[in-house]
Amino acid sequence: MFDVVIIGAGIAGLTCAQQLHQAGYHLVVVEKSRGVGGRLATRRLYDTYVDHGVRYLEAQGKLVPQLIDLLLQRGILQTWTDTLYELKPPKPESAGEDLPHPSHLTCYAVPTGITAVAKFLATGLDIELNQRVQAITPIEEQSWLLTFDSSEIPHEIRARAVVVAIPAPQAFMLLEPLATKGLSPEFLACLSSVEFEPCLSAIAGYPQAAIQDFPLACTVSNDSDLAWIGLDSSKRSNPQMPIFVLQSTAEFAQQYLNAEDLKPAGQQLLSRAAQLLTPWLDAPDWFQVHRWRYAFPKSPLNQDYLGATTPLPLVCCGDWCGGKRIDSALNSGLAAAAQINQQLQQRSLPREDFWNTL
Ligand SMILES: Cc1cc2nc3c(=O)[nH]c(=O)nc-3n(C[C@H](O)[C@H](O)[C@H](O)COP(=O)(O)OP(=O)(O)OC[C@H]3O[C@@H](n4cnc5c(N)ncnc54)[C@H](O)[C@@H]3O)c2cc1C
Repeated sequence: MFDVVIIGAGIAGLTCAQQLHQAGYHLVVVEKSRGVGGRLATRRLYDTYVDHGVRYLEAQGKLVPQLIDLLLQRGILQTWTDTLYELKPPKPESAGEDLPHPSHLTCYAVPTGITAVAKFLATGLDIELNQRVQAITPIEEQSWLLTFDSSEIPHEIRARAVVVAIPAPQAFMLLEPLATKGLSPEFLACLSSVEFEPCLSAIAGYPQAAIQDFPLACTVSNDSDLAWIGLDSSKRSNPQMPIFVLQSTAEFAQQYLNAEDLKPAGQQLLSRAAQLLTPWLDAPDWFQVHRWRYAFPKSPLNQDYLGATTPLPLVCCGDWCGGKRIDSALNSGLAAAAQINQQLQQRSLPREDFWNTL
């Protein structure tokens, strides 16, 4: 029996868990994937690392600058580039002479992959990986019972409070059955009002071609297919081969939401990148495509967390509470921890001093 179970080891869930852990609560984080981080994701490929979710951290918002300072002090984060380029599809009259437009922005990355940020936030926490929560049920107003859809030995967890730190559409699927067990229609309506946009990430490896003066980080504007081109391998200390990560627009990803084979989508993104930047991007040695069904909140809530009025504490949090990005995920995780603490024991939380406790 735990005080709190946190569902989801993304940045919101880990921040919430860390805050409650510091206050002395007995808790566990359950995560469906093999590792922590959620959309703060790194894939291990060809003896190197590739960031196929969040590309870099930038000092924007209220909490991310503090996180960056701490990670720089600890030697986890490094400056990746100070220049972000903007690419625009060439106008017909320009005969392909539209060069990428540079602007100054310090982008921070981790040589071993951005997931290291989540691993840092996970320090000291009890985390169960490969555990997808299938159902949450209240047991006689004493505790919540969580069951998992794992093919392994049947597994259950009991806790006095639950934090659901996953994208709103997934939270809705998980919590809708509680409509008959005291979860209000208003709560579920609020949850279902939050829509997410998808994104496809194509990861492509190239032979050791001459990549001199190549822009490392490019946002693509006004294009229907492509939103980002990054030379991801330039974040690594000893890159073995050039690896690019391309990210699609939501509009493009929407067409492939249910496609079984994502290779044609990846090839199309590569062709577009080749048209916009340099022809050889079209012909990598290998490429893979990852689908983010819930990449970015389209219609976030204007509140830090979503709390239920059930007799037992139940709180939802994530980037979709109060924003769309990492900063709102961090803020929402802290707000959810404060709410759970208020409903349980009202211990002293190190919120103001959060970063110093890590
Ligand atoms: C391609 C891409 C690029 C991005 N770039 C940026 C950027 O440059 N800057 C920025 O600020 N933000 C960026 N974002 C957004 C950023 O990643 C998110 O805002 C942030 O990571 C959200 O964190 P979270 O904890 O709310 O959710 P998530 O990271 O989604 O974490 C939720 C976790 O819950 C787990 N989970 C879900 N269902 C269950 C279940 N039933 N049982 C157990 N576990 C479950 C998931 O596996 C996941 O680990 C990007 C996102 C994507 C996809």
